[in-house]
Amino acid sequence: MTQSPTPSIAPPSRPIAGMLVLAALLGGLVVAWVYRQARTEALDNALVTGQQRLGLYASTIRAALDRFSYLPATIALDRQVIEVLSGNPAQAAALSTKLETINTSARSASLYVMNARGVTVAASNWRTETSYVGNDYSFRPYFTQVMTTGVGRFFGIGVTTKLPGYFLASAVRGASGEVIGSVVVKIDLETLEEDWGGGDGAVMVTDEDGMVILTSRPQWKYAVDGPVTAQLRHKLDVTQRYGAVPLHPLERRALLQLGEAARLERVGESTFVAQAQALDEEGWAIHYLADWEAMESNVRSTAALAGLGWIAFILLLLYLRQRRLVLKAKLDARDTLEALVAQRTEALSAEIVERQRTERHLRETQDELIHAGKMAALGQMSAAIAHELNQPLAAIQTFVASSRIFLERGDAETTGTNLSMIDDLCRRMAEIIRHLRVFARKSPVASQAVDPAASVSRAVALLAVRLRQADIDLVWTPPQGLRVAGDPGRLDQVFVNLLANAIDAVADAPARRILLDAVPVGGEVVVAVADSGPGLPPEVVDRVFEPFFTTKEVGEGLGLGLSLSYGIIRDMGGSIRAENRAGGGAVFIITLPNVSGFT
Ligand code: ADP
Repeated sequence: MTQSPTPSIAPPSRPIAGMLVLAALLGGLVVAWVYRQARTEALDNALVTGQQRLGLYASTIRAALDRFSYLPATIALDRQVIEVLSGNPAQAAALSTKLETINTSARSASLYVMNARGVTVAASNWRTETSYVGNDYSFRPYFTQVMTTGVGRFFGIGVTTKLPGYFLASAVRGASGEVIGSVVVKIDLETLEEDWGGGDGAVMVTDEDGMVILTSRPQWKYAVDGPVTAQLRHKLDVTQRYGAVPLHPLERRALLQLGEAARLERVGESTFVAQAQALDEEGWAIHYLADWEAMESNVRSTAALAGLGWIAFILLLLYLRQRRLVLKAKLDARDTLEALVAQRTEALSAEIVERQRTERHLRETQDELIHAGKMAALGQMSAAIAHELNQPLAAIQTFVASSRIFLERGDAETTGTNLSMIDDLCRRMAEIIRHLRVFARKSPVASQAVDPAASVSRAVALLAVRLRQADIDLVWTPPQGLRVAGDPGRLDQVFVNLLANAIDAVADAPARRILLDAVPVGGEVVVAVADSGPGLPPEVVDRVFEPFFTTKEVGEGLGLGLSLSYGIIRDMGGSIRAENRAGGGAVFIITLPNVSGFT
């Protein structure tokens, strides 16, 4: 037997840990790349949206201011205004009432008239505690502007009201065209802040000094976008532009420049994408700060999603790899099994060859044994034949010798007796030889369908004389249609032998009866020859089929009849056996294949 190989699963070709590290590195690169792409896109979007917002907010400011730009110029043409400024103060109270009416219907914050010295002579808020009437605003820049250029613009916190507003001034000219005073409208821009507050991100408007004058973030208001210099401080002190508001810088820290007027920056705790646009007419700038944190969290989510996608991809690859390994292991196991089967088959084939050799050897040995057995049987038989023939030969020699003496003596009668004795002995020897020739004729004989009943009947006919002489009661009813295969002459000889033995057996018996029977049993024909003789003694029953076995007197039996019959029946594919009948006597039973369909 060959050694069976141990099935094993091959270890993975590359260490899995190395692959995982590589996958993690690649995953990191993928996430970084996605993050970068998403961030760039988010910034681009923020810039586009910011530009749109800036345009929108700028136009709302413009609209809010333009709505009132005609008002001071129109009122400056009013006769009553000119009269009051031309030195008719009596009309001032009436003018204040008029301004009050106009202010209410125009929905401006306040409307007032200043003389050439900057003192308010009439105001829409003349009834209130914070009335401007009598107040000197000559320190306000718009006063200087209007006196020199005819128009004044200014944003500041009201000195009297403490409310911020946009001051728009138009010069009032006397008859000769000289400036005699001005009409000022104060516009409340804080309603804009309320509108801006609703949007996401932050909006702020800075003046020419960087002061945040309008914003959606209350905490940034009046902070300075830029350095708070001593010069600025002095300037604001003089103009009292923002009253007593403490000056402090708006801490904006640039993180990344995104273009000329855009950058990523940090203000306080928040990060913004900041963009600005100039409002040239006022010298202001409007800023839109989009909340970057919300966008960045989206960018991070996208990158995280990419990371998860990568992990899923790697897991899928791992799963597929694992599956491949399992399949490979199965295939390997199958290969191993197949190899094992092949080995076993080979071993079995070798075993079969070995067995065949042994069988051949056995058969040869058996054949040798059979040959030896045959030789022994031949020896046994030769001895018997020699004995059987020697006896008459010796007797013949004796008779011949004595006949010679009797002839010399001229005793013809005794010589004649001797000669007839010799003749008897010769016939006996011929008889033995005739029987032996049956053995010699054992070669295959033409097989044909034979009616066994007819064969029995022919034997009965042949021995009819003996049966009659011995006064034997024969019971025989031949049946029809039985067929066996064989040589009819040889089968006849079998029944002659059996019937002759039965006649011998019943010869001295009190009842002389022979029963013959032939019946089909299954696929066979059974023929029985029974007699009422003494039967077969136990020591005889096993030997009756032996050649030369006889219990009969010398000259009465050769002991060959049954052994010949045995050989004939065996050659026909049948069997013969001897038994004692329950009621006394012997029975010889022959079984032969029934070949009724034989042609
Ligand atoms: P043979 O008849 O020449 O003796 P067989 O072979 O025919 O030779 O028979 C052998 C022996 O079998 C006989 O001598 C006899 O002893 C015994 N035998 C045969 N047939 C019968 C029978 N029907 N009843 C009793 N003995 C028998």
